[in-house]
Amino acid sequence: MTSDHQSNRLANGDAKGSGAAEFVPAGADLAQLRAAARKCRGCGLYRAATQTVFGTGPSDAAVVMVGEQPGDYEDRQGQPFVGPAGRLLERALEEVGIDRDAVYLTNAVKHFKFVERGKRRIHKQPGRTEVVACSAWLAAELQVVEPALVVCLGAVAAKAVLGTDFKVSERRGEMVALPAYQVIATVHPSAVLRAPDFESAYSDFVADLRKVHAAM
Ligand code: SF4
Repeated sequence: MTSDHQSNRLANGDAKGSGAAEFVPAGADLAQLRAAARKCRGCGLYRAATQTVFGTGPSDAAVVMVGEQPGDYEDRQGQPFVGPAGRLLERALEEVGIDRDAVYLTNAVKHFKFVERGKRRIHKQPGRTEVVACSAWLAAELQVVEPALVVCLGAVAAKAVLGTDFKVSERRGEMVALPAYQVIATVHPSAVLRAPDFESAYSDFVADLRKVHAAM
């Protein structure tokens, strides 16, 4: 399977037109991709961020979970899902019986986008241009890992994988069959943390992850 073919299954996946494509080495394994991504200049987000935050997990993982972008903690540590949202995800995964270490975790966008407010760096949602620019990395990760199931955490990831018309609010928890893998979308764990009714939001999130577990 060529990377172009894989990219075409991503909604934003015209690898030739994406900013990161020229930085993605052909035929690379995950370690080589991760190393190459450190030098990506495919869009402007690398300038203010500390480092590229590439995906982590087994190269033969059956499940790939895709978030939006690294946050403040992830940007400093260079690992995805190591902040509060990551801890909530870990708690929910444990509750449904999914081993986090067996999952490949990544983001649709590999650099932290933020605005500075005093000394704080406030998350800013990546725009469509940045998601498209970064799509070649996600396509390359999916090509190497070849998961059976892709879990989109939040709208940015869902639109990156399933197309811009996909609405998580209407279709969360629905299993969507693509040629190479199934996809299920749910909310991002940070949205659960921010929810006015945390218990209810968390319970819905866990219910979606139970569907993931059942499909594994
Ligand atoms: S966000 Fe993605 S495309 Fe933009 S510089 Fe970072 S790795 Fe490259």
